[in-house]
Amino acid sequence: MPSDQETDLRDAIQFHGHLCPGLALGYRVAKAALRELKAERPHDEELVALVENDSCAADAIQFITGCTFGKGNFVFRDFGKHVYTFYNRKTGEGIRIAEDYRGYENDPRYPELKKRQEAGEDVSKEFQQYKMDKAAAILRADDAEIFRIERAATPAPEEAKIRASLRCSRCGEKFMESRGRMNNGVVVCIPCSEKG
Ligand SMILES: [Zn+2]
Ligand SMILES: [Zn+2]
Repeated sequence: MPSDQETDLRDAIQFHGHLCPGLALGYRVAKAALRELKAERPHDEELVALVENDSCAADAIQFITGCTFGKGNFVFRDFGKHVYTFYNRKTGEGIRIAEDYRGYENDPRYPELKKRQEAGEDVSKEFQQYKMDKAAAILRADDAEIFRIERAATPAPEEAKIRASLRCSRCGEKFMESRGRMNNGVVVCIPCSEKG
C-alpha cells in the first residue's frame, strides 16, 4: 500500500473489508464523479449514482459519494458492466464513466497462476500479491488510462417515492404495495407467489 494514501481511501478499504482491484476502481470512479459534478462535499443528498454491476467497486462508490441503497440515491442496474452514471440533481448535470483499463489485460501472470492453481498448487499468496499490484496500479494511473468520462445521455432516474404497505394474504408479512402479486384471487408477496 502506498504511504501517501488518502484518509478516505483508507476508510473505504475499512468499510469494504479489504483492498482489491474492484475497490480501487470504485474509489477512482467516485472521486472523478465528485470532481466532475463539482460535488466535492461528500454525502451530498443531491447526488444520484447508477451502477451497472454489483462488484467490489459498488462499495467504494457508496462510501465515497454517500449515495447508498438505503437513501434511495444508489440505483443498481444488473448489466454486468463497469459503467457508472452520476447525476447532480441540483445542477441537472449527469456524467457517465465507463471503465476501460488495459493495464493488466495481457499480463502473463494471471493465466500462469490459473494454470498452476488448476494443477493443484497453492498459489493463494501469489494471487493476493497480483491483486494488490493491480489495485496499486489502478490507484496510481491517470484517469484516461482507466476510464472514459462523457456526459450522461439519459436523464436521472426518478426519485424514490414513499409507497404504502400491504399485508400478504399468505404469510401475513408486509410488503411495498408496488411489489404485490395476484395469486388465486388474493394479493401476496413475491416470495409467496413464487412458491406457487
Ligand atoms: Zn473487494
Ligand atoms: Zn407472503
